[in-house]
Amino acid sequence: MEYDVVIIGAGPSGLACAIKLKQLNQDLNVCILEKGSEVGAHILSGAVFEPRALNELIPDWKEKGAPLITKAKKDIFRFLTKTGSFWFPTPPQMHNKGNYIISLGNLTRWLAEQAEELGVEIFPGFAAAEVLYDENDNVIGVATGDMGIDKDGNQTEAFEPGMELHARQVVFAEGCHGSLTKTLINKYNLRENSDPQTYGIGIKELWEINPEKHDAGKILHTIGWPMDKETYGGSWLYHLEDNLVSVGFVVGLDYKNPYLSPYQEMQRYKTHPEIKDLFEGGRRIAYGARALVEGGFQSIPKLTFPGGVLIGDTAGFLNTPKIKGNHTAMKSGMVAAESIVAHLSTNEEFGTECTSYQSDMEKSWVWSELKKVRNIRPGFHKGLLHGLINAAFETITAGLAPWTLKNHADHEQLGKASDYEPIEYPKPDGILTFDRLTNVSFSNTNHAEDQPVHLQLIDPSIPVQVNLKEYDEPAQRYCPAGVYEIIKDDAEEYKLQINSQNCVHCKTCDIKDPSQNINWVVPQGSDGPNYPNM
Ligand SMILES: Cc1cc2nc3c(=O)[nH]c(=O)nc-3n(C[C@H](O)[C@H](O)[C@H](O)COP(=O)(O)OP(=O)(O)OC[C@H]3O[C@@H](n4cnc5c(N)ncnc54)[C@H](O)[C@@H]3O)c2cc1C
Ligand code: SF4
Repeated sequence: MEYDVVIIGAGPSGLACAIKLKQLNQDLNVCILEKGSEVGAHILSGAVFEPRALNELIPDWKEKGAPLITKAKKDIFRFLTKTGSFWFPTPPQMHNKGNYIISLGNLTRWLAEQAEELGVEIFPGFAAAEVLYDENDNVIGVATGDMGIDKDGNQTEAFEPGMELHARQVVFAEGCHGSLTKTLINKYNLRENSDPQTYGIGIKELWEINPEKHDAGKILHTIGWPMDKETYGGSWLYHLEDNLVSVGFVVGLDYKNPYLSPYQEMQRYKTHPEIKDLFEGGRRIAYGARALVEGGFQSIPKLTFPGGVLIGDTAGFLNTPKIKGNHTAMKSGMVAAESIVAHLSTNEEFGTECTSYQSDMEKSWVWSELKKVRNIRPGFHKGLLHGLINAAFETITAGLAPWTLKNHADHEQLGKASDYEPIEYPKPDGILTFDRLTNVSFSNTNHAEDQPVHLQLIDPSIPVQVNLKEYDEPAQRYCPAGVYEIIKDDAEEYKLQINSQNCVHCKTCDIKDPSQNINWVVPQGSDGPNYPNM
């Protein structure tokens, strides 16, 4: 199949790009591949939404029924201690006047309708598994994975070969730590002039709470407990419409203690005396987790290569101090569309490099917004107190300091188990706090059992020989879906069991494994979580 533009991923960046392409040139053939079973199925965000990019893309979004229902009305920021809390000034970046509390899953579903009305072809249930190159190593398209392959690589009765989609430009919009983007960054050395990307893991639950406790539009962020002073992290609690509350916790993946479990920290947070009452009488209706990019300005790789571009979180356009990436993801997709339309008007052939996208992004408001806050997140690398003082300085000086702090790869930050004490986490009560596997069932994740494992170990001996010995195999704890278990086999030898069917596609293992031995590749299309409205 041949297109002018193929977009990988139906998140806000990919959909905004597709819509803008068709707005600018109705004659372009544009298609989107999405690995989730439907648009929105793999989408997870907070989300407080800044409508700046949407206002530019679809100014009459209100009339068109965009699901932006709940206006942000109250911003509260607290520093938690173990038993109480104290007031903390809300950082200016986190003021949410004019923003909305939304389900990003629902917004992407609506954006997909707008794109389809303009003639964009969207193929949910199709994962892009491979980048296609011509003989000169230029990108000319992607191939979707074969369906119906058993775990030994043999074809089953359900076999359907993957398809090749060729395009004059391929737009990679895979979200945080895209699996194809990872190969492109290596192949074209796109990080030659940028820092490593750094990440956080966000664990989220959606609750329906007692109407008397619900306060639509209220936003609460906390820092402090249960994080220790060395670990970057904090919570969000957003009151949406219909008595829904989005509650979650982000832990910076530069954490050092290998015994830390981001999942358990999130459960523990809910037990805080000033938090737990909100959930009394309510019920958790959905669960999920996703990594988010935190590196900011200095970790943005080169954005173009022959035949394609990177947009959205896979390029790293999240504003960490704001905890917002939806507006910047959408804007990057729109800028890419403008650059591509201009480029294709004079470059008919496949595999050419749309270099103007890089300079167009550098002129956009995304660039200046990210540059201004570039030193805030890396300041926390030296601990909470240093981070807060540095953040205050950077905010007062509006990012005009003549230096740029460096980012370091998260997997290199993990300390040895021998230097830390195991953390005793409280047992779940099944009402407010839950064990991982029960919660995973609320992500509706599903993977066909008989297929090659999509969590590939480069060296199968490393989990036991290196990771278990040196780090007490941290995958047992950082995975929010309980995929990795150290068990004893029949000969009483330790081995790593990979319960890949539980994976919620958060990408944390590919990021945090201290040996960089786990390669996350796409499973069969449609597999993975089925988030209703995350
Ligand atoms: C826990 C958490 C809380 C957040 N809170 C907020 C917030 O409050 N406000 C805010 O503005 N931002 C927030 N963000 C950030 C925001 O969600 C992201 O910046 C935004 O989703 C990025 O959009 P994207 O299109 O780049 O990627 P995504 O939204 O991740 O979408 C990528 C899509 O591509 C698909 N895909 C990936 N690889 C392939 C492949 N190979 N083949 C086919 N399909 C593929 C995925 O299934 C997915 O649907 C949060 C993020 C997280 C994780
Ligand atoms: S296996 Fe990896 S990608 Fe899947 S849920 Fe666990 S940490 Fe996330």
